[in-house]
Amino acid sequence: MYKDVQLHINGRWRAATGGRTIPVLNPATEEQIGTVPHANEADLDEALAAAERGFHTWRKVSAFDRSKLMRKAANLLRDRADDIARLMTMEQGKPLPEARMETLAAADTIDWFAEEARRAYGRVIPARAEGVYQLVVKEPVGPVAAFTPWNFPINQVVRKLSAALATGCSIIVKAPEETPASPAELIRCFLDAGLPDGVVGLVYGVPAEISSYLIPHPTIRKVTFTGSTPVGKHLAEMAGKYMKRVTMELGGHAPAIVFDDADVEHASKTLAGSKFRNAGQVCVSPTRFLVQEKVFDQFVDQFVAHAKAVRVGNGLEDGVQMGPLANDRRIPAMETLVADARQKGAEIRTGGNRIGNKGYFYEPTVITGLTREMRAMNEEPFGPLALMVPFKDFDEVVEESNRLPFGLAAYAFTKSAKTANAIASQVETGMMTINHLGLALPEVPFGGIKDSGYGSEGGSEAIEAYLNTKFVTQAGI
Ligand code: NAD
Repeated sequence: MYKDVQLHINGRWRAATGGRTIPVLNPATEEQIGTVPHANEADLDEALAAAERGFHTWRKVSAFDRSKLMRKAANLLRDRADDIARLMTMEQGKPLPEARMETLAAADTIDWFAEEARRAYGRVIPARAEGVYQLVVKEPVGPVAAFTPWNFPINQVVRKLSAALATGCSIIVKAPEETPASPAELIRCFLDAGLPDGVVGLVYGVPAEISSYLIPHPTIRKVTFTGSTPVGKHLAEMAGKYMKRVTMELGGHAPAIVFDDADVEHASKTLAGSKFRNAGQVCVSPTRFLVQEKVFDQFVDQFVAHAKAVRVGNGLEDGVQMGPLANDRRIPAMETLVADARQKGAEIRTGGNRIGNKGYFYEPTVITGLTREMRAMNEEPFGPLALMVPFKDFDEVVEESNRLPFGLAAYAFTKSAKTANAIASQVETGMMTINHLGLALPEVPFGGIKDSGYGSEGGSEAIEAYLNTKFVTQAGI
């Protein structure tokens, strides 16, 4: 049922001009399940010209009508969620229920942006002279280039696509080559809902080739990227050189702080569920578990029990809770970090090994005895590694939380409102969730600070990122 994926350029699904393709593998079996076209410059030129025309068409469609079309696309996505989720599991590895949830959540994201952009109000500023009207008008920024990764093949696209379309922009999506089919099906829903030709383009290829061609191109007015910090910095630099608007959603190393007055059982269960979701390949995944000394052993024991109970396997099988890692780069990434920690004296409480030698399966892993010299304590693991670190008091945990250059997500568990307020204000982070998991809904801001990037992919802030502000002052004559 997994078909070869195509480019979508200028209203047509088609192969790359040069006919080159890239294989797509199932990470659970390592078997090739399809191919994806490798776009070349001729393809990108056609996509750019189409995006230019698409923008002039789409910006004239009223916000009301754009919203109607988007909500139709959202309903098509809901109708097709079961089939799309299977494609996602086959190409990305995550368990089928997670893939289905991601697809359905994407439909909610489309609905939210469709509605919110109808309220992209400008304002009227009182003038100093009679008969003068001072207007602030919001206009779409123009054709967007979006670069999205493989961990959430649909969710990473839908936030950018929905914000762009809702505000009247056209967009070229460079979707992930490892997981191309599910984002292509997302885009098909918009086309089947009646999106005019050229408003959305979909390309795959060599990411660096595509970004270095699209970002400097005069047609592109905004760049949005989700991925690692080094790549984000490189793209932001290029965008700066050509003065393009930018949103960057980059890496994290989230502290998950458990104070000794917390409900430890609730904290360990909640955080373990979050850690092993999508095999830890989540930018907001809890990573450094900073646990107050008095409850450290209790928390670690409970967390280890949860980790051992996780059923790892092919995401298409019933009851599997954690699939393989998404690609062959992730296994050596885990092995390097674990070997470094082990060699420097850390204790692997559970896991720490690859499972089998077919498919990129890795054990849910819990590590104690960590020091700041260990690589895992500094680099984003982006996998199922939970790092357990005890702390004495409030100041110490704030210092450790803020030690790294990242500032994406943070978690805290405490029964004290005073501690909750204090930790929320002192941790340098774009998002903080306390006593529950409450991040990433369409209606709330989603984004980081420091090396985790800038801009937001949720809430009204996400709409602003796709709008220019124009000031118009007019005197009656
Ligand atoms: P990577 O850093 O090379 O790539 C990360 C993403 O950026 C991929 O989607 C890739 O296609 C894209 N990319 C890479 N170079 C690019 C370029 N020059 N222009 C445009 N896009 C480019 O490595 P990877 O092995 O895919 O992922 C490794 C790391 O990336 C992970 O450890 C994690 O830190 C980070 N990552 C973060 C997210 C996230 O949600 N923030 C998602 C995926 C990967």
